[in-house]
Amino acid sequence: MSALYGTYARSDLAFERGEGVRLFAQDGTPYLDFHAGVAVNALGHGDPHMVAALKAAAEKVWHTANTFTIPEQERLGQRLVDNTFADACFFTNSGTEAVECAVKTARHYFWAKGETDRYEIIAFTGSFHGRTMGMIAASGNEHYLEGFGPPLAGFKHLAPGDLKAVEAAITPKTCAILIEPVQGEGGVTAMTGEYMRGLRALCDKHGMLLILDEVQCGYGRTGKFFAHEWSGIEPDIMAVAKGIGAGFPLGACLAKGEVAKSMIPGTHGSTYGGNPLASAMGNAVLDRMLAPGFFDHVDKMGQRLNWHLQQLAQRFPSQVLELRGKGLLAGIRIASPVRDVAVRLRDEHHMLAMTANENVLRLLPPLVVTEADIEEAMGKLTAVFEAIEAEAAGQASGNATA
Ligand SMILES: *Cc1c(COP(=O)(O)O)cnc(C)c1O
Repeated sequence: MSALYGTYARSDLAFERGEGVRLFAQDGTPYLDFHAGVAVNALGHGDPHMVAALKAAAEKVWHTANTFTIPEQERLGQRLVDNTFADACFFTNSGTEAVECAVKTARHYFWAKGETDRYEIIAFTGSFHGRTMGMIAASGNEHYLEGFGPPLAGFKHLAPGDLKAVEAAITPKTCAILIEPVQGEGGVTAMTGEYMRGLRALCDKHGMLLILDEVQCGYGRTGKFFAHEWSGIEPDIMAVAKGIGAGFPLGACLAKGEVAKSMIPGTHGSTYGGNPLASAMGNAVLDRMLAPGFFDHVDKMGQRLNWHLQQLAQRFPSQVLELRGKGLLAGIRIASPVRDVAVRLRDEHHMLAMTANENVLRLLPPLVVTEADIEEAMGKLTAVFEAIEAEAAGQASGNATA
């Protein structure tokens, strides 16, 4: 029996090394990785620049508390500020802590202005914001709350997509709207640009803050640095993680200066958040991502992936029910149980893919994926759908002759 908590339905598969979009199991078998550790391995596996950066950082100071100046963190923060809407950053170790910081920042902003009753946040069904006590209350899925006692108060959940419902839910207590521009776990649902602009307008009209959770859809995944850039709006606060360290645990909360200014000494903290080692890795990721052409490549590969998935949908109309997502965060709502399809891909075709809610197969390859890799993945998906159809036909004819 494993010494670990049974919180995951783990496979026995263990990997020893990786190279680009490929992972090698302990017996040497290569796997095509369209899972990327849940959108974390943005640069694939074994990226030489990342390996060199980690080795160099290991020779320096690994950790100092955040009560000292951490030059690598200052530099990472400045680069994020220079390339986004934000004026200030707080570094965390994970995505859920980044959204926690976003929620704390929003509530504290109004509290510091004397609006102490203004703490409610409108969030959405199907959303996922992580697993802390605070963020299971923010997430729009009752299942995460079950058995964990009274949830943190102050979150109101609405179905995404309906601006009128949002406006109707706003009260004098509402301080912010919290949304993922592309819902990941919930089923790979991309919000439309019109909806995002509508939310921004409602926040402006009612003096509320727009908080984006770009932990999964940010950091290049959709073909721009951040997914909200597609809609032409800016948030007031944004949580990021996953791709930010490309495998090194790191997250960040980014905010406009006016919003972040009440977060004075004593209001928030993290022992590890943005320590020298983590910040060095964050900077190494930006070296690669902010290089000319990086996001163009992601955008192009996202379009190619979508084109190939459309071909697949035409070929298997009874299997592929709907295509979802944006860029290299792609979802296929399928007819067969999604877990079965993911297991067949893994065990029979050595391809790693994820599942999401609503019976969606989620494809999130490293952002360095090539069209040849995408074609290889499509070949494996085709083989699985062909096998499922052949089995169904066999059963049907078996029934007919019986
Ligand atoms: C993964 C995820 C989180 C939680 O991140 P952790 O690093 O697991 O804490 C929060 N929000 C979104 C949108 C995510 O995809």
